[in-house]
Amino acid sequence: MTKLTAVTAAVALAIAPISSASAQGKGPPTIRDTEAEQLLRDYTRPILRAAGLEKQNIQVVIINDSAFNAFVADGRRIFVNYGAIMQSETPNQIIGVLAHETGHLAGGHLAKLREQLAQAQTQMIIAMLLGAGALVAGARSGSNSGLANAGVAAVTAPQEVIRRTLISYQRQQEENADRAGVKFLTATGQSARGMYETFKRFTNDSLFAAHGADPYLQSHPMPAERVAALEEMARSSAFWDKKDDPALQLRHDMMRAKISAFMERQDTVYRRYPMSNESLPARYAHAITTYLHGDLRSALAQIDGLIQLQPNNPYFHELRGQALLEGGKPAEAIAPLRKAVALSNNAPLIEMLLGQALVGTDNKAYTEEAIAILRAAVARETEAPIGYTQLAMAYGRKGDFAQADLASAQAAFLRGDNKTARELASRAKTRFAVGTPGWVKADDIVSAKPMPGQKSN
Ligand SMILES: [Zn+2]
Repeated sequence: MTKLTAVTAAVALAIAPISSASAQGKGPPTIRDTEAEQLLRDYTRPILRAAGLEKQNIQVVIINDSAFNAFVADGRRIFVNYGAIMQSETPNQIIGVLAHETGHLAGGHLAKLREQLAQAQTQMIIAMLLGAGALVAGARSGSNSGLANAGVAAVTAPQEVIRRTLISYQRQQEENADRAGVKFLTATGQSARGMYETFKRFTNDSLFAAHGADPYLQSHPMPAERVAALEEMARSSAFWDKKDDPALQLRHDMMRAKISAFMERQDTVYRRYPMSNESLPARYAHAITTYLHGDLRSALAQIDGLIQLQPNNPYFHELRGQALLEGGKPAEAIAPLRKAVALSNNAPLIEMLLGQALVGTDNKAYTEEAIAILRAAVARETEAPIGYTQLAMAYGRKGDFAQADLASAQAAFLRGDNKTARELASRAKTRFAVGTPGWVKADDIVSAKPMPGQKSN
């Protein structure tokens, strides 16, 4: 059965490299950031509408991986590595990749591929059984070459045919996703040039060719004909020469500066954004990397400079609060985080930071406010364990140990630590009156199997 598994795994991997991680209940390591997620939502919304998928609540999830990759794995999320964002110099380039992935979603390619796989497996099992029969016959006949070798051939030949069938099927899906992607871009008045540029780079960029292990290249074989067909489609659009809106380009540059500063080595950050570069994105990167490397005073001065330029940018206030909070000054972080919450229209991840600052002050006067803010945040942002961790601390401070245990259980559950989640939820159940809402939630965790966010369709 080794070969069967190998072929199955290879095809599944090309489409969903993270499915095995998800199956273990933990999922891939993701990056959470309101600014980046908001921008990716703005990129995706019109595309999803053009694809007729606007009602499906499809999320774009950023994965903590520097390689170029983007994929769909479960029909309700598009995964993008931060490396793909860093390598997309214009909004249009990453929007092209998102349009292609939306093409996979709209075409139901995952489900169709699974069907093909199931069929292939059945064919393969039949082939294996036939091969095994021949092997047994060969062994019985007493000859150690002839028929026994024929048995091996019977096993391998159909596998090769099935493998080729699956690969050509996958290639067909890629072409369909290209075509659908260009259609969505054209329908939304956007150029498919960025999509073409990105895919073309994979065919002739020697750096990518040398990187045999690049995941996107592996799952997206780019034969010259495919890229040529894409170019023809893209060029025939009236929007081929349409440039990104400068305001959107600036948001894109700010997102990349932030990702670089948070994710890349400091020398890489300064190579991308030398001190001589005084653009807003460069100053953003400098401020972040300064705070991350421990110089809070200098970082705050730089952030204040940014706030002076854009007083209503919520993410500058968020950064100020985060730097203070992580610099051990939660009381001082409260005011900038309140401002960031207000300017961001109550973004839940920023509310969680504010809750953390309120809890971090050790001032009981803030406890009720922290609980109210955190409860509102976890109701809208259901996949970030930090909200529940802070909520547990706030309830603990108040002496409400039933709610504290429940919140700790929910945090553990979201981290994928089901054992701790069950233990804490069991203890929470003993503290709540039977049948109360808290008891029911705790009971749900005790009896839950997979994470709610990790169910595959
Ligand atoms: Zn694809």
